[in-house]
Amino acid sequence: MATELVVESINDYKGESHVATTNACKLCTPLGATVAFKGVEGAIPFLHGSQGCATYMRRYIISHFREPMDIASSSLGEKNAIYGGGPNLKKGLLNAMQKYGAKVVGVATTCLTETIGDDVGRILAEFREEFGDLPLAEVVHVSTPSYSGTHMDGFHGAVKALADQLCLEGAPATGRVNLMPGMVSPADIRHLKEIFSAFGVTPTVLPDYSETLDGPALLEYENIPSGGTPLADIRAMGGATASIELGRAITTQETAGTSLESRFGVPLKRLGLPMGIRETDSLFEALKAITGREPSRELSLERGRYIDSLVDGHKYVSGMRAVVYGEEDLVIGLTSFLAEIGVIPVLVATGAKNRNLEAHIRAACGDVLREMPLVRENVDFFDIVEEAGALKPDLLVGHSKGQKAARDWNIPLLRCGFPIHDRFGGQRLLHVGYRGAQSLFDRLVNMVLEKKQTDSDIGYGYL
Ligand code: SF4
Repeated sequence: MATELVVESINDYKGESHVATTNACKLCTPLGATVAFKGVEGAIPFLHGSQGCATYMRRYIISHFREPMDIASSSLGEKNAIYGGGPNLKKGLLNAMQKYGAKVVGVATTCLTETIGDDVGRILAEFREEFGDLPLAEVVHVSTPSYSGTHMDGFHGAVKALADQLCLEGAPATGRVNLMPGMVSPADIRHLKEIFSAFGVTPTVLPDYSETLDGPALLEYENIPSGGTPLADIRAMGGATASIELGRAITTQETAGTSLESRFGVPLKRLGLPMGIRETDSLFEALKAITGREPSRELSLERGRYIDSLVDGHKYVSGMRAVVYGEEDLVIGLTSFLAEIGVIPVLVATGAKNRNLEAHIRAACGDVLREMPLVRENVDFFDIVEEAGALKPDLLVGHSKGQKAARDWNIPLLRCGFPIHDRFGGQRLLHVGYRGAQSLFDRLVNMVLEKKQTDSDIGYGYL
């Protein structure tokens, strides 16, 4: 007689002996690498693995950025899982170079090729030898097993691979500043470039997908969209005056910034994502120290206007309880921003692990935080919802995956970061700088007011 398996609740799967992930609060590792590779001029991301991985990532990324997202693939099948994917990788690289005219191909591995143990470095060396008589593009590769990391690991790994494999020895002094902004929005990258320019310095932003993933409408389709960090600029990064790397949680990793410092002696300044006043002030202080210049009057006015708006609007949000979730560096920045405006973060959660998140939140928030929130790493949305429910939050702050919980609890969701799949314009959301803080604050206050109006029997039309 067949035994029937009765599952009363998801808890049956999450006992001590077995842990299942339910709606992960992180994304696939090579997905982050493909976004990073999109930020190099003339580059095409290439997945060494099955076709399905590339299709999933294309669909996922397009839904947020609303731009074409070509990802080449070595399209491995069952036979390759046994005999290895080398021949497919070589053939796919040639196709990508010839059909797209790519100047750079960014190869990221997938779960399949990591599991079968393909030696991509060796295969690429063979490829260069076999096809050395052809005009080959640069090929950069990064190892991105998704079972041991998150999309942020893939993103930072790809940026480091670009610096390691493309920067040249003996680059002359450029007078530039390298900026590794982390996985921020195209609008954030544009604003960061504007801030650097206001201090009279040209940044080499790695990666820069501000145009490739948020470009203008064109009459002619471009196989590879215009924009991205030029290859010549990447090669010259060793000649920069300094590097700035944004993200407190990446201190546990070797990065492009540490690589440029150890190989070429480019001094590295690591800062938190510049969200809210104090973290943005830190970026401005760093730029002042590097350039010897004061910020422009326009940027100073933005800071002043933001503070004025806090005076006007803090009463609408002060004391509200927020649950913050998402990428590790983003949640640190958001927690600092919320604490500054008087919102009480009660739970801060990320799907990443071993990021020292609690210590980074203490450092970013200082004494602005009224009380330390619960901080959780390596959690999924099952864990977040279970713990958050008991905390009776008034707000959710994170990407669009929190939409169901927000609806169930009838509370507003301030959409930030990646992915935003259920709203329009995710790629144009601004988070950084005083201008980004202003945008977040205005959106938040208006969401709270809208809910009050909607919930009120009589409503009101005048603040
Ligand atoms: S199999 Fe691995 S690499 Fe492919 S989509 Fe799934 S998590 Fe990503």
